[in-house]
Amino acid sequence: MAHALRDRNTPEILAKGRQVIDFEGSLADFERLSGIVEQDLATLEAAERPADWRAAPLSARLSFEFADVQEHLPAVTGFARARIQAVCQRCLEPCEIDLEAGIRYLLLPADKATAATDDYEVWELEAAAFRPADLVEEALIMALPISASHADNAACGPLAGQLESGEEGGADTTRPFADLKRLMKETD
Ligand SMILES: [Zn+2]
Repeated sequence: MAHALRDRNTPEILAKGRQVIDFEGSLADFERLSGIVEQDLATLEAAERPADWRAAPLSARLSFEFADVQEHLPAVTGFARARIQAVCQRCLEPCEIDLEAGIRYLLLPADKATAATDDYEVWELEAAAFRPADLVEEALIMALPISASHADNAACGPLAGQLESGEEGGADTTRPFADLKRLMKETD
């Protein structure tokens, strides 16, 4: 992974330097997000599991600056994108889904987090320094859909019709990412 994304730094240093980080990599660079995808794909038969799921393309751009002229409010704008493998909840076969997260945050310690403006949300920092990679990863985890599925019904496998008309499909089985995201939060 690009060093600028992985290195710990303070938001003030990044904002003062007007640092721009461009990242082109793969899901394999992000452990927690990989863990979520792995758990989701674990419900597939081994033969059906896409072998190269860790190689899913992931890109991000982060631009750091100050949101105010007094330079008290370090901010980051940009995006994170990934195309990941998931289990379609209509047909229970593998599908590809696009994750897209817009990033527009003030980077502030918890005790200053009330400084939110109309233009920015606040990203609360637990320490003075942080890893930009963690921000990218968290934004993509938040962008996971509650339920993944093929973009087009026509791409679904034969089970799709049966699942929709049957008794299956309770909240526990059709919202795997919702449950996984909750689990990840609990283990923080
Ligand atoms: Zn499907």
